Amino acid sequence: MTKLAGKKAIVTGGAMGIGLATCRRLVREGCDVTIWDLSEKELMTAEKELTAMGGKIFAYVCDVSDKDRTHDLAEQARKDMGRVDILINNAGFVRDGMFWEQPVENAVKQMDVNVNALFYSIHEFLPEMMDRDSGHIVNVSSGVAISSAPGLAAYTTSKWAVWGLTDVLRLEVMTAKKNGVKFTSVHPGNIATGMFEGFTLNLLGRLISPPIKDHDVIAKGIVEKGLKKQRHLVVIPWQIYIGMIIRGIVPNFILARLSLLVGLGSCINNYQGRKGFIHSTSEVKKE
Ligand code: NAD
Repeated sequence: MTKLAGKKAIVTGGAMGIGLATCRRLVREGCDVTIWDLSEKELMTAEKELTAMGGKIFAYVCDVSDKDRTHDLAEQARKDMGRVDILINNAGFVRDGMFWEQPVENAVKQMDVNVNALFYSIHEFLPEMMDRDSGHIVNVSSGVAISSAPGLAAYTTSKWAVWGLTDVLRLEVMTAKKNGVKFTSVHPGNIATGMFEGFTLNLLGRLISPPIKDHDVIAKGIVEKGLKKQRHLVVIPWQIYIGMIIRGIVPNFILARLSLLVGLGSCINNYQGRKGFIHSTSEVKKE
């Protein structure tokens, strides 16, 4: 079990949801934490709360899809914390709607925030982790990287890419015999509030993958299973593993029908997202 006390961590999208819950756990473990987040107001609130908990917190407004800003803030993190032991790429962006009904820019933006941003941040810190042969990069993918979700085509694409990137980087690092550098891909199911509020499966789907009530359930998985036990894959709820096994063994035409049978075809019919924020459907309609 790896001890986290004294480690220096960056959490992207750490002002709300899974990111904030993870920051709370890291502070309790004794880590210094840098947060990069787009939402200034929530960032300031989070900084205040985490500092009051006794944490050494460095909070910066950042759009993680901005390569130059990421580079500048990576330099800043080295100045603030000395080094970066843990990088948690958690910030995510979603726009719902059938692919052909949306401006293509929505799809590109999701790839920018959910995938290209990981290229930028990992490219900043992986070389120095390799030099030290130590460090841990956690990338937050999704359950939709195992069971694709109609109405979330670009988001699904981006989360498959996150898993692929995490998987291949692990092999590259092992090939270079830098076994001290660890990677974790995190696959949360549906959290009932926040970014995916209103996303629903039918009764069968909810039995197989019950909605998660609290962001901290995922944060616990990231810290306890990912960082401390150094697991390569963190899948919550565990039932999503069933989807992985089914994908590996059943013919594709059956897989597609099974996906629709659990309600994935109508999963975004009541989607609302985080109201008033960037993942809000009402905001999309305003554009
Ligand atoms: P959230 O909306 O509660 O938090 C996301 C955070 O990312 C927010 O603080 C937001 O301001 C920040 N953010 C968004 N775009 C950003 C950008 N361009 N630059 C910097 N910060 C940005 O969402 P969450 O549920 O905590 O999601 C966290 C991660 O988990 C995301 O990657 C998401 O795709 C993934 N995920 C969520 C669920 C779910 O059901 N909520 C399920 C599977 C995967």
